[in-house]
Amino acid sequence: MREIILIKLGEIVLKGLNKKNFEDKLIKNIREKIETVGEFEIKIMQSTIYLIPKKEDDVDFVLLGKKISKIFGIARYTRAAWCSKNLDSIKETAAEYLKKELSTAKTFKVESKRSDKKFKLKSPEISAAIGEYILEKFSNLSVDVNRPEITITIEIRDFGAYVHVDSLPGAGGIPVGTGGRAAVLISGGIDSPVAAWMMAKRGVELVAIHFASPPYTSPRAEQKVVALLNKVAEFSGKIEMITVPFTVLQEQIKRTCAEDFFTIIMRRFMIQIAQKLARKYRCKALITGESLGQVASQTINAIACTDAVAQMPVFRPLIGMDKDEIVAIARKIDTFETSILPYEDCCTIFTPKHPKTKPILNDVQKEESKLNIDQLVKLAVENIKITKILQEN
Ligand code: ATP
Ligand code: MG
Repeated sequence: MREIILIKLGEIVLKGLNKKNFEDKLIKNIREKIETVGEFEIKIMQSTIYLIPKKEDDVDFVLLGKKISKIFGIARYTRAAWCSKNLDSIKETAAEYLKKELSTAKTFKVESKRSDKKFKLKSPEISAAIGEYILEKFSNLSVDVNRPEITITIEIRDFGAYVHVDSLPGAGGIPVGTGGRAAVLISGGIDSPVAAWMMAKRGVELVAIHFASPPYTSPRAEQKVVALLNKVAEFSGKIEMITVPFTVLQEQIKRTCAEDFFTIIMRRFMIQIAQKLARKYRCKALITGESLGQVASQTINAIACTDAVAQMPVFRPLIGMDKDEIVAIARKIDTFETSILPYEDCCTIFTPKHPKTKPILNDVQKEESKLNIDQLVKLAVENIKITKILQEN
């Protein structure tokens, strides 16, 4: 009996003329992701991808499923037995493939999908025939169409018939690489890794920019960011991480500008430096983990002051989300436990006692003009460090 993985495409099915580009990209991403699991033939037909092991014996289907669950562009996936398109073969395959589950359950039902309309029986007829056979073979079973313990699914498709029980939800979204490149401003906090993941889900390839202020921030804080990006990369594929030295700049702001303005000026510097780097690394937008009203620098007024220096779109996928909604995603993508490790972020040093929640752009600019902005930006950009975050394999 041959076992394969059936993959159902997500939003790609709604695409028009450029659908093929999305499908090709998805197949390329799948290939890259599973290359260490074994050798596979990959076919696509009618919005379904067939992942067929070339050598069946040595495939770790559990590991394979884990990897498939982290590829964007997939709505559902399932492990299935593959047999020829005749009723006897389907009956025998179903009974044999699901022997273990069927022997111990009390109730079941059969659902059939016939996408190959040339197959002579209609879906209800297929279900009835298979159901009857299973009932004969397993005396412990009875049919329950409302709340069965096991639902056997039979799919009659182009290349054959398939039998499976549990189709699982995929990661959703669209394939990474179909949405251009953007640079995510990443801290060690809870929010920015979630923001990065959300944009990767929309097909965006990621570059990560991290501001570090040694000795106020420790090397462990930077390692924490690497650990977070490793988790994100399981979904997004490889990420280039750019670490930007921020100490000199922060010290100068502290020395020169009024305390109330410290955070907003610092954030404007972050955007200016990030967009210079973004251009250099072929990114068309920035991403941050801001959520409206979460802290003083994330009010509408503060964001307006920050965005006034932005010359490219700044995506804030968390802007309308509550903390508990963000935390739920952080747990799902397994970044939460790392994010809550207690290392300092450059944002948390020199924080003013009374940050302005309604900064006025003119005042901010006036205060900021006491600094040599261009020189400070240039200095930071010239002293970056690159770390390559590879997709775990
Ligand atoms: P996070 O949980 O992502 O740290 P936060 O709620 O702590 O967010 P802030 O510290 O105000 O909020 O930061 C807002 C956003 O600014 C972050 O989501 C991130 O995109 C960016 N940011 C903050 N600190 C850094 C940093 N050290 N390097 C790069 N970007 C940063
Ligand atoms: Mg933070």
